[in-house]
Amino acid sequence: MAPKKVVLRFSADIADQPMIYKLVKDYDLVINILKANVNPQKEGTMVMDIAGEQIEAGINYLRSVGVGVQSLTEEIIQDEERCTSCGSCTAICPSGALYIERPDMSVRFDSDRCVICHLCLTACPVRAMEVRF
Ligand code: SF4
Ligand code: SF4
Repeated sequence: MAPKKVVLRFSADIADQPMIYKLVKDYDLVINILKANVNPQKEGTMVMDIAGEQIEAGINYLRSVGVGVQSLTEEIIQDEERCTSCGSCTAICPSGALYIERPDMSVRFDSDRCVICHLCLTACPVRAMEVRF
């Protein structure tokens, strides 16, 4: 089966479980973690490539233990023309993909750090953050 790129979302109560170990050991999957933002005390997100013959079984396992699994076929973009650098999104972005650049205090977007949580889409008052499929 072709590799699949997915984003995982963990709640705090399951963030410390050895899920990646089980994917490798029990489902014989090859995992390539592309981005991770996991804290045992908080919700976490992880973006990864999964390869192997038992991808669907592995994803079903993740869902059975309460992990949100979303196929990564979308990306977040920032409309720099529309952005007013108000900073609202930087406070809620969990991965640091949206950050304030000094000294001009403009808000920048680093797509490599984005975990596609969608929080900035609703936080932005001028709809400068968009999702593209
Ligand atoms: S979707 Fe928005 S809030 Fe979420 S990680 Fe990406 S830039 Fe940050
Ligand atoms: S909330 Fe919107 S307008 Fe404000 S800094 Fe973020 S992207 Fe720019």
